[in-house]
Amino acid sequence: MKLTPRKSFKAALLSLALASFALPQAQANENIVNVYSYRQAFLIQPLINAFEKETGAKVNVVFAKKGLLQRLKSEGMNSPADVVLTADINQMGEFAAEGLLKPLASQAIEHNIPSQYRDPNGLWTGLTMRARAIYAHKTRVKDGELSTYEDLAKPHMKGRVCTRSGKHPYNVSLLASIIAAKGAEAAETWARGVKANLARKPQGNDRAQVKAIFEGECDVSLGNSYYFGKMITNEKKPEQKDWAAAVNIVFPNQGDRGTHVNVSAGAVTKATKRPDLALKFVAFLSSENAQSIYAAANFEYPLKDGVKMDPLVASWGTFKADNRNLAEIVTQHEAATKLMDKVGFDQ
Ligand code: FE
Repeated sequence: MKLTPRKSFKAALLSLALASFALPQAQANENIVNVYSYRQAFLIQPLINAFEKETGAKVNVVFAKKGLLQRLKSEGMNSPADVVLTADINQMGEFAAEGLLKPLASQAIEHNIPSQYRDPNGLWTGLTMRARAIYAHKTRVKDGELSTYEDLAKPHMKGRVCTRSGKHPYNVSLLASIIAAKGAEAAETWARGVKANLARKPQGNDRAQVKAIFEGECDVSLGNSYYFGKMITNEKKPEQKDWAAAVNIVFPNQGDRGTHVNVSAGAVTKATKRPDLALKFVAFLSSENAQSIYAAANFEYPLKDGVKMDPLVASWGTFKADNRNLAEIVTQHEAATKLMDKVGFDQ
């Protein structure tokens, strides 16, 4: 039957209505990537700008210090989130354990990021890396006194060690790496040894420990490597430059398993309505250009081989990282947390 113009208009309206009814909400905004991020906005903004410029897509970021796991869980498959970015592997391990992630099927990511920094099941990938380093006073710590995490637990370090809480994820991960490498018993002995050597109860953040070294309260501390860069270049709080000037950064265990490292990580959500674009964004973050920007923004290490390091970070020298897959370390987190309680590390 031939449609009159009027009928044809009606039919067009109807088909339009049906089409928009049938289309999931997200498809109307196909060129948008929604990111739930535990990573601070200023660290990822330059990358977002570069991605938007390269692809014409729009990236929306919901940044939060906590609660994103609960939010994604409660939203379920209705979640608008396409991508999750975390500041460390503890957080990403929780998203993976809750079944909220979709495997990353990307040759680019596999090519760019060494397998030890990717989930064996493909659920997440590391994006930037930092070392759990030791900060040692330049003169009070003598040559040969300190080259391993194990040294922190030895009698010559009595009353000389400062650290933040043993329950902080950075220290939980470190203990988890020791459980993975040497077993629970050796890890417990180590945790007890470090506790016995503490100059004061665990308190403050990683930088506060370097301040304590500067002020003479202790000689050595545990701290993430990027804080060295953040202190050295801190124009807002220039006193931190003095703290940093008092210490050397030590990359422990170069003669055996290597230094414990952690990563910031990225993943695609199971709930994504735009899996291709979401994957494209995570793959972009693993690319050479993004890696150098991302790592330098926080004085971290790029994970992609051959990417230029920030000159300040490069000046600290290269080091051997513990090459155990981070997923294996994540599986020891619960045991490590319990062990910290058992030895009363923070008491
Ligand atoms: Fe940190």
